[in-house]
Amino acid sequence: MVRWNHLSIYNMAEDKVSLSAKVWLAIIFILLIGFSLIIFNGKTMDEQRQEFVEQKQEIISTLIDQGQYACCLEKPCVYCIEKTPGHGEGATCHCLQDVVEGRHPCGECIGEILEGHGNKYLSQYFAAAIAEEVGQEHLETLKQIIAQKYDDAACEINQTKECQDE
Ligand SMILES: [Zn+2]
Repeated sequence: MVRWNHLSIYNMAEDKVSLSAKVWLAIIFILLIGFSLIIFNGKTMDEQRQEFVEQKQEIISTLIDQGQYACCLEKPCVYCIEKTPGHGEGATCHCLQDVVEGRHPCGECIGEILEGHGNKYLSQYFAAAIAEEVGQEHLETLKQIIAQKYDDAACEINQTKECQDE
């Protein structure tokens, strides 16, 4: 009876040792996999990001030169590269044409326009174009937001009497 007790205590101790050894083995294994992924991929996340950004800019400037990337923002959107078809074919962007013709631009453009980063020369088209996507019942609200963001710009461009009086 005493001997069995001793045996079971011994087994428990051994179990503890082997469990922590297993944990350590697992940690070492995970670390090895992590390092080998970095080594075999050869690039850090910063480097991958840098390449990704550069590639996007290259695609956009090439397509702008070809007249295939016409955006409605101050700084062209990048969403259209992936989004098409929907706002163009392949990696092209037709957000400018969409906005002027009363169709909604891409999601990135909708967000950026509402933040005030749209091309101010197009501000008269923004509310209607976005309402086409989010619903006509929001047209008045959209007009208010657009006015708040772009009215100074509109005055600057149109030189209307009301603006001069202000
Ligand atoms: Zn866009």
